[in-house]
Amino acid sequence: MNKERLLEVRGLKKYFEAGRPALFSRDIRKVHAVDGVDFQLRHSEVIALVGESGCGKSTLALLLMGLEDPTAGTVTFEGRDITHLNDNERKDLRRKIQMIFQDPYESLNPTQTIEEIVNEPLLVHGIAKDKRERDERVKKAMEDSGLKPAEVYLNRFPHELSGGQRQRVVIAAALVLEPEILLADEPVSMLDVSIRAEIINLLAELRITRQIAVIFITHDLGSVGFFADRVAVMYLGRIVEIGTMLEVLEKPQHPYTKALISVIPVPNPRLRRKRIILQGETPNPIDLPTGCRFHPRCPVAISACKINDPSFVSRSNSHQTACLLLVK
Ligand code: SF4
Repeated sequence: MNKERLLEVRGLKKYFEAGRPALFSRDIRKVHAVDGVDFQLRHSEVIALVGESGCGKSTLALLLMGLEDPTAGTVTFEGRDITHLNDNERKDLRRKIQMIFQDPYESLNPTQTIEEIVNEPLLVHGIAKDKRERDERVKKAMEDSGLKPAEVYLNRFPHELSGGQRQRVVIAAALVLEPEILLADEPVSMLDVSIRAEIINLLAELRITRQIAVIFITHDLGSVGFFADRVAVMYLGRIVEIGTMLEVLEKPQHPYTKALISVIPVPNPRLRRKRIILQGETPNPIDLPTGCRFHPRCPVAISACKINDPSFVSRSNSHQTACLLLVK
């Protein structure tokens, strides 16, 4: 087992059937939600998965959690193939990979107290030998999530808490199982701007104190700048660029990444960036463009881009820098 690699994703695809183009047609159209994704996640590493809505990042999260079956490809966790597990194996795995959803209002059962919500995963997984141990774990998870002292919150209901506190409860309910990976799907997009930084700081703290790896899914590259180790940029079901946060922010290679970075607000008005506004809408994932799937919107596309598909830019794999060669 490679200790360095906690999670390895290879050639992962998920196509959804979208009906026939015509009544008597034999063809079945497919939505290419995730279309050949490869990446690795190391122990206590933070990867930001960035892209517009509809690029496939949330479907990718569901595949990693085993909530969707892949069309092709593999996911390996701690050296073990977890692509096709039965229900019991999947339940066991969920202890180690926990998900934080976007909407803390919908994630919490309004009829349960905070104590019941955070305790429930322990009961479902049959963890902890008695109530005393469960209570201790619940209290620790809550306090590690910033709900201190836990006694103040235990008997409250979700509607009695602020949006930020509810998201902390969601995080506590994940932490109570002592996972190795947190999959956070737009965890701050429903929160007030003032609260967002607090939740991101909390995740940054947890990766250090609890050695948890985090996959942070977001449409806003600017929101993860300081805490992600690496960034993977997704476009139409594929990762088009991956690199360290510094490399990607300071020297983006793919034209799509450059456009995303150009619209991040800069705090100093004297340091204005030239904004790159992409033309047109994201193509329909049922009818993908030929060649490079970004070519209808790419500001530097050439005619060869309608035929060739470089698809991926990585600093570590020179054979995959075809896009750069094409642009030059
Ligand atoms: Fe743009 Fe062409 Fe590179 Fe695609 S291959 S990103 S269209 S330059």
